[in-house]
Amino acid sequence: MRPFISLKSIEERINGKGLEIDAVPLAQILDLDKTPVYVTSLNAVSQRLNKYKEALSIHFKQNEIFYAMKANFAAPILNTVSKENFGIDIVSIGEWRKALASGIHPNKVCFAGVGKKESEWKEAILGGLGNLSVEHLTELTEILDFLSEEKKLNSIAQKKLVVSLRLNPAVEVDTHPHLKTGALNSKFGVLFEHFCNWLNAKKMQFKNEELFLNWINPLKGIHVHIGSQLTENSIFPLVARKVLDCAQFMFENKIFVQHIDFGGGLGVGQNGVPENGEDIFSHVHFVCNAFKQESKKYPKLLSIWNDDFSNLFVCMEPGRSIVASSTIFLTKVLYEKRNSVENIFCYVDGAMNDFPRPSIYGAVHHAELVNYDNMNLSKNDLNIFSWNIVGPVCESGDFLAKNALLPQIHKGDVIAFFEAGAYCRSMASQYNLRELPSEIFVRDGNITDIF
Ligand SMILES: *Cc1c(COP(=O)(O)O)cnc(C)c1O
Repeated sequence: MRPFISLKSIEERINGKGLEIDAVPLAQILDLDKTPVYVTSLNAVSQRLNKYKEALSIHFKQNEIFYAMKANFAAPILNTVSKENFGIDIVSIGEWRKALASGIHPNKVCFAGVGKKESEWKEAILGGLGNLSVEHLTELTEILDFLSEEKKLNSIAQKKLVVSLRLNPAVEVDTHPHLKTGALNSKFGVLFEHFCNWLNAKKMQFKNEELFLNWINPLKGIHVHIGSQLTENSIFPLVARKVLDCAQFMFENKIFVQHIDFGGGLGVGQNGVPENGEDIFSHVHFVCNAFKQESKKYPKLLSIWNDDFSNLFVCMEPGRSIVASSTIFLTKVLYEKRNSVENIFCYVDGAMNDFPRPSIYGAVHHAELVNYDNMNLSKNDLNIFSWNIVGPVCESGDFLAKNALLPQIHKGDVIAFFEAGAYCRSMASQYNLRELPSEIFVRDGNITDIF
């Protein structure tokens, strides 16, 4: 299922009449002659953002959804996020600049990232950044030093800044190895034990407690993001305990955590997402309930957060689950070739540089023949074959699908790949000096932007 996308039966997919996205018929999109092209329903993006907000608001009065823009940083998507008053999660200074240019208030930006340059965090802090996640203790020291200098200089920019420690909870989650971020063998975040040692050493170094507390004051949050494309969340009670242990340790050192960020990571399968956003509701409820349940064992923390958590700010940073199913990738058939009965190739005008997830991650994206010419149709054509859909790039690794089950294909037919909104266009490259793929944005029956 894909909200705002309707696909008719194979017999009806003639001359652009079988597919509609956000009430725009495929024929209208194909008239623009832009393939390979990504087509995005902006209503689908809005709907998913609002589901998160609704679900998180049920649990925590103070909350925020930061859309992780690395999943898809197209301007119309960022404008939608901005207009609907959501926050943005960024991981580079390029993303910072683009977020601001899209009208996002700097205070609604959360800057994470495992290898920030000093020039990057300085630019963002001085520009009024609201939330900064640190992933190294050296980085944390340097940032706190910088902030205490700034305070002395009476700069106002950093007043509202919340610095969070990105905790590596050292848990194993079930996802692709490249998508794990919260395990011992992961480069992300800081281990609790390392943080404890660091804090104790810093306290000793300062000697005077008041000076120390003043210095460390901007550190008010804990952030965890344990991985991407997570398909089960049974690990969350354990993650919640790790967060709470850290908050408790901070409490005992008079550092009062006011801000907890549960990261993103909700996965999207090959069949898309439910029309009613039920996947988001159940994920958010599970994470929040696990956290609230575990919190009961930490009465000291509840004494600062209140029993109804009204004194705690809770946020999430979804990327993939917001945009994945909002977008289809359309590519046109160039040729076919049959090397043997088992090895049938369909050459299309899109390639690994345009649509990289299959070749990088071995990701499987559902493919459909969505348009063909009436003239080509014969009864025989509706038999299904197992196709290797490949692009024009000079690499054996250049494929978009292996063993995709589709009918006979002819030159000029159009194949759509689904769940193409996240980590697809944003990972596109110009390998082979190919042009970057086009993008079309639609909403309420209108094409709003063409790139
Ligand atoms: C990538 C990333 C996200 C988003 O992850 P999704 O799997 O797309 O939801 C959230 N937070 C941080 C820190 C990230 O790096």
